[in-house]
Amino acid sequence: MKRWRHFIVLALLVPAAALAAPPQWVTLGTNSGPLVLAGRAQPANLLLADGQAILVDAGDGASEQLMRFGVGLGQVRAVFLSHLHFDHTGGLFAFFGRRFQTRNLEPVTIYGPPGTQRTVDGLIAAMQPMADKADTFAFLTRQQPADNITVVELVDQVTVRLGAIKVTAAVNSHYVLSDDEGEHNHSLSLRFDVPGRTIVYTGDTGPSSKVEKLAQGADLLVAEIMDPEESIERLAQTRSDLNPVAKLAVKRHFTRQHLSPEEVGLMAQRAGARALLLTHNALAPTSLEAARARIARSYTGTITFAEDLKAY
Ligand SMILES: [Zn+2]
Ligand SMILES: [Zn+2]
Repeated sequence: MKRWRHFIVLALLVPAAALAAPPQWVTLGTNSGPLVLAGRAQPANLLLADGQAILVDAGDGASEQLMRFGVGLGQVRAVFLSHLHFDHTGGLFAFFGRRFQTRNLEPVTIYGPPGTQRTVDGLIAAMQPMADKADTFAFLTRQQPADNITVVELVDQVTVRLGAIKVTAAVNSHYVLSDDEGEHNHSLSLRFDVPGRTIVYTGDTGPSSKVEKLAQGADLLVAEIMDPEESIERLAQTRSDLNPVAKLAVKRHFTRQHLSPEEVGLMAQRAGARALLLTHNALAPTSLEAARARIARSYTGTITFAEDLKAY
């Protein structure tokens, strides 16, 4: 048993160089929405700064992407969820389950909008049948699925300090439906002030003066991007049940609650962001250069389309 434990500990060590290096933003997954794409994982990011590894959104595949980048699950002590759409949370169950099965149970705090506690409670409840039946591995059962998992729900303009990192949250304009601004609808953009660098992550949002304010003077603005026309056409090709009324509703969501190339360019320019990194990107590869030109109509900084497992 001792040797087995030893192996697990070794397997989950993070390369020290990665944590000691200058602050980096790693796009673990750059896909958007529920569609499965070969070679592109769902939205997940890793902030390496101040000796910490922070997971920002946890779409499906986040744990494997972390390992591919060389960061063990036990090194992640904080997870920030921008909102509770499944493409941003789908990897959380595996993250919890793999930590549990490998006894990799260092404390982890899940930060997210209101509703995060309910999401996490549900995932922990889903782990319980396996934990209850783990008799064969009696030495595993001393731990319970909920052990060492803490949830902190974030409200508009709240700040969190993690060592030398200051995180500020702002409620954005994603999935705010008509006049319903109840707290269950909150979606967050996040500002990370780390030593020597400011990185702002839009999460999913439409145009938003609050996000522009949050991103003021950022060294790097990590933003979502969507072409509503292109996305609705792709959806129509794969969904025969998309009747005209549903199509209109989806188009309204895409148009008002996501960022077109023009809108993301305007946001970056108004914020004075030095560089723009585009992720949560459903654009066809053939559309990228046209999108870059559309962004550059209003934004004069550096424009980069993120790739999975690249550090910026
Ligand atoms: Zn999304
Ligand atoms: Zn969303």
